[in-house]
Amino acid sequence: MSEGSLLDHALVRLDEAAKHLTVDADVIEKLKFARETTKARLMIRMDDGSRKSFLAWRCRYDDTRGPTKGGIRFHPESTADEVEMLAFWMTFKCAVMNLPYGGGKGAVQVDPRKLSKAELERLSRAYIQAFASIIGPDRDIPAPDVYTNSMIMGWMADEYSQIVGQASPAVITGKPLALGGSLGRGDATARGGFYLVRHLADELGLKGNLRVAIQGFGNAGQHIARLLASDGHTIVAVSDSEGAVQSAKGLDLGRLLAAKDSGRSVTSTAGEGGYELLDGNALVGVECDILVPSALENMIRIDNAHSVKARIVLELANGPVTSEADEVLEKKGIVVLPDILANAGGVTVSYFEWVQNRQGYYWPIEEIHERLRIIMEREGRAIWDVAKAKDVSVRTAAYVHALARLAEAIEAHGTQNYFAS
Ligand code: NAD
Repeated sequence: MSEGSLLDHALVRLDEAAKHLTVDADVIEKLKFARETTKARLMIRMDDGSRKSFLAWRCRYDDTRGPTKGGIRFHPESTADEVEMLAFWMTFKCAVMNLPYGGGKGAVQVDPRKLSKAELERLSRAYIQAFASIIGPDRDIPAPDVYTNSMIMGWMADEYSQIVGQASPAVITGKPLALGGSLGRGDATARGGFYLVRHLADELGLKGNLRVAIQGFGNAGQHIARLLASDGHTIVAVSDSEGAVQSAKGLDLGRLLAAKDSGRSVTSTAGEGGYELLDGNALVGVECDILVPSALENMIRIDNAHSVKARIVLELANGPVTSEADEVLEKKGIVVLPDILANAGGVTVSYFEWVQNRQGYYWPIEEIHERLRIIMEREGRAIWDVAKAKDVSVRTAAYVHALARLAEAIEAHGTQNYFAS
């Protein structure tokens, strides 16, 4: 990628959207900077008795539309800049889905695989002790992200409840079911993307049996594979951090999941059933109809975007396509269903969890699926219509759609127009 901070790169999409809307300059000025990013050094006792410290952040990017919402990432390469970029994306994602939230994000600079379970629990609780005055059910609501999970959210919710002296499940989403989690959160990200593709199939020119390639075979990747396969489509290639396997005749999900469940890479299935081993980087160039990036950021770049043969890219990962690669894909006529829409099923079911916690009444799974489907289809359709009306990419349309909502809320708080004499 070219020079500049990660947030600067993300802001390119805001500038592009702003060209297609008349919004007050105050709105753009407000959305170019995080409202607050707090840094803390978390000190924990290690199992051997020593003390170790870890850098941590919580960013509340914009709270005009409601309390800020966004996950906490545990990663050795996390930085304040990355946290702000992710919080910016959350701001737009929540606006895309019309959830009553602003955007936030948090991180701890740590490799959690190097910690024991007890150390991980102490670190998770230390995070909440450091940021207890920033988060809250009406202020800032964390959730899981890369290398954090429902167990960690359970510890964090418990720590917060102890600090405030009362049960407070709505402070964090993605909790275990036994602690007020929601049904349907596990596959919500993939399910949202699945509903979107199904709803726009005619517009996207998708008919009959489709060939699907999936980059990254974790939570999002495995669930989208299952949902698309059960809808009659063929998974032709799958990758994880160790490489990829492909089979034009289709990969058997049971075999791939068995490998993952026993702690092996999908590459360990190569040779079985005629599966071919493929370099992980080559996955994006596999012959298919839908390419589903569901691994990490910046996986489709200027150097490999030309090789993409899919007709549709469904971004379940956050930021898998760089802005330079976006232009290449657009020129090739490939439709990208952008992250802030395609993977927003996750935050939408997190929102359902928060609503259920506050109601103290829990919905059956059918209701969760139906409510998710309605929102994905409503916002997906509105964004598709913006793309057609303004002759822009679906990504730009999603940003325009979100920016219009953000601008309305920011302007309702008062902009320079109020003060002009
Ligand atoms: P995960 O950790 O469960 O899975 C990630 C997968 O990516 C793993 O299989 C890993 O092996 C693979 N991977 C890592 N490096 C790779 C590489 N170089 N090439 C191919 N595969 C590689 O994570 P997840 O929860 O499935 O999240 C995946 C992406 O989806 C992330 O960008 C995340 O931010 C985004 N996302 C997830 C959710 C959610 O609810 N899980 C919601 C919104 C967005």
